[in-house]
Amino acid sequence: MPELADKSDVVIIGGVAAGPKTAATLARRLPGARITLFQKEKHLSYAKCGFPFLASGELGSFDALVQTSYGVARDSGFFQSSKGFKTVTSAEVTQINRGKKTVSVRMCETGETFEHGYGRLVIATGSIPNRPPIPMPQSDRVRPFSSPADVTGFRDLAQRGEIDNVVIIGGGFIGVELCEAVGEMWGIGVKLFEKQPQLLPYMLDPEMAAIVQRSLAVQGVDALVDVEVEKVELDSQGKPVVFVKGREPTPADYVFLCLGVHPEGRLARESGLDVSENGAIRVDSALRTSDPDIFAGGDCIESVHRITKQPIYMPMGSLANRHGRVIAENLAGASVEFPGVVGAFVLRAFELNIGGVGLSEQTARGAGLESWSVWGSFPDRPDYNPEAKTLTLKMVYEQKTNRLLGLQAVGRGDICRRIDVFSALLHGEKAVEDLMDFEHGYAPPFAEALDPLHHMAAIAMTRERGVTFVSPDFVHAPVDRDTLVLDVREDEESASAPLPSEISKVFGEALHIPLGQLRERLHEVDRNRRILTICQRGVRSYQAALILQTAGFEDVHILSAGLQAQT
Ligand SMILES: Cc1cc2nc3c(=O)[nH]c(=O)nc-3n(C[C@H](O)[C@H](O)[C@H](O)COP(=O)(O)OP(=O)(O)OC[C@H]3O[C@@H](n4cnc5c(N)ncnc54)[C@H](O)[C@@H]3O)c2cc1C
Repeated sequence: MPELADKSDVVIIGGVAAGPKTAATLARRLPGARITLFQKEKHLSYAKCGFPFLASGELGSFDALVQTSYGVARDSGFFQSSKGFKTVTSAEVTQINRGKKTVSVRMCETGETFEHGYGRLVIATGSIPNRPPIPMPQSDRVRPFSSPADVTGFRDLAQRGEIDNVVIIGGGFIGVELCEAVGEMWGIGVKLFEKQPQLLPYMLDPEMAAIVQRSLAVQGVDALVDVEVEKVELDSQGKPVVFVKGREPTPADYVFLCLGVHPEGRLARESGLDVSENGAIRVDSALRTSDPDIFAGGDCIESVHRITKQPIYMPMGSLANRHGRVIAENLAGASVEFPGVVGAFVLRAFELNIGGVGLSEQTARGAGLESWSVWGSFPDRPDYNPEAKTLTLKMVYEQKTNRLLGLQAVGRGDICRRIDVFSALLHGEKAVEDLMDFEHGYAPPFAEALDPLHHMAAIAMTRERGVTFVSPDFVHAPVDRDTLVLDVREDEESASAPLPSEISKVFGEALHIPLGQLRERLHEVDRNRRILTICQRGVRSYQAALILQTAGFEDVHILSAGLQAQT
């Protein structure tokens, strides 16, 4: 039995992100409060989000994920001496006894059980990886990527040279992130199977996800969408074979199951607290459950989306840590509200940065909101800066009100800054006009004099003035096949980077007139056809469209975000 009093002022269940953050903040706010945290695993407060770096070998060992910035391990001794609260590891809370205000605890290693009383309780039990509803063998070569053992298990095999190729099942956040961890660092062949018709479903719209898919292909990752894995079996040597509907079986040395997570809400449900259909614990804006003495935060709770005002499940470390602060403040007697979520995320796959916040075009439609979308490709700092890199943005906003709804960003450039600014604007319920007015820090090492977000606002306003922008996905949309594609790039650009074959396949040979020559060569452009102007990033196409419109051309369209979004 651990040395414990039989009761604490505050008991916390779960010890990775939300739990320790609550405890540490509360111990600062209420010094002297008796706080006890029970954690099922033997490790505490490890940086789960750093798992890909551990799997890849970039981090020397798991210890790096449990260390403070000053090199001290975040273990029970650290939390007791530096933070002022008690932690009991390898201790599973098996039941919440709300009548008696106790929790039942089982020590995982010895099997001992005991009860511990609480004044108030915090549930921070996190999430559990989804298992596919298909036949799946029990094997250390077929695993999710969720626990320390999952990561070190894979890494040990990779280090022993036992893995030449892997299959990742699931093309969401973790699946896409893993492509780099295993592909780049270990030189392992990577195949990814995603059931939905695009990568990062529900996070990006299809044309933005297509950029990710093409970029993965360039890195040698075979990411297939719209494919259904039917089962995984082990061959005679104990190695997995993945069976995909309508395809040859795929042998692999390792299979990652990256199928998302669901909330660990069992204790809450069994003790009669209000939970959602998927088991997420329902909380109010103070993060209090249906029992006023019990709070909950992190991956185990249901959130409210700030734009749709609808419940949403959003398991993110960024939110779990903020939940911890809010819960602690409220336990300490303050009155703090959690404002809801806008779903900000960022991730990296090789050199490509990927992010989003708010609603995509698809999710806006699903929420019954009528939206417009605009796209743009920009450098993240002046082109003369050798560090400049490109990014492609898609902005979604409400048709009637111009209210901002969401931003998606893909590219090698600095997308994070744009996601964060947009997130703040969404929290403030701002509109396109406000985006135009936001004041940013500018100097050439960091940014352009006008930020890409200013340009996005300008594009949205231009759209209002009757200019027609075509989605980067136009080749797959029902398009007028008689459209004349007008390439207004410079001669050298067109010669060195011909239009993607997909475009010429649909529209035939393009007419090439560099922007600077267009005014003199207007007679070469057929007035009776729909014109689609194309350039590298979209700016010159816009100029070209204005020249054509001024000259009386009536049916002029611009390829949004240019060829940058087609690569
Ligand atoms: C590979 C990977 C990469 C990620 N990258 C990012 C990222 O880049 N950005 C981001 O925002 N998020 C990321 N996340 C998500 C992030 O890690 C989670 O949102 C965060 O860990 C949630 O914290 P939590 O405390 O709510 O729950 P968890 O981290 O799930 O921790 C809950 C803990 O409670 C314990 N527990 C459960 N039940 C009991 C019980 N009955 N008794 C005692 N203990 C119990 C569990 O064993 C677990 O240790 C990533 C996740 C993974 C797996």
